[in-house]
Amino acid sequence: MLITPNFSSDEMACNCCGKSDMDGEFMKMLQQLREDAGFAFRISSARRCEAHDSNVSSYKKSKAGIHTYGKAVDILVGHVNTTKTLKLIKQAQDIGFTGMGLALRGARPKRFIHLDNRGVDFSLPAVWTY
Ligand SMILES: [Zn+2]
Repeated sequence: MLITPNFSSDEMACNCCGKSDMDGEFMKMLQQLREDAGFAFRISSARRCEAHDSNVSSYKKSKAGIHTYGKAVDILVGHVNTTKTLKLIKQAQDIGFTGMGLALRGARPKRFIHLDNRGVDFSLPAVWTY
């Protein structure tokens, strides 16, 4: 089932349980980014249930991660050239994503950009590398 013209609930679903409810405002922003970017996105992770999130999280957290709110996505970029990748980062900033994590080194198939629209109730805007 399509959530927006370019994204289906299957693509957004938790890799362990299939839970796929996403935040409406987040999906609008993601669709806008897709249209600005002009190329198909390969999503490696979007919605996560709390169990899956704690299994795959790269660090110990005191609270559930932003993926459990349906407000985050990891977009694979290993196959995307540097110019397009930099442009994507700029376009995401312009749209107003408030969390951005960059995994841009190591094996290409694993490189990704994490984007989220965390509110201040979750944390201040944040940018980081992995
Ligand atoms: Zn799950």
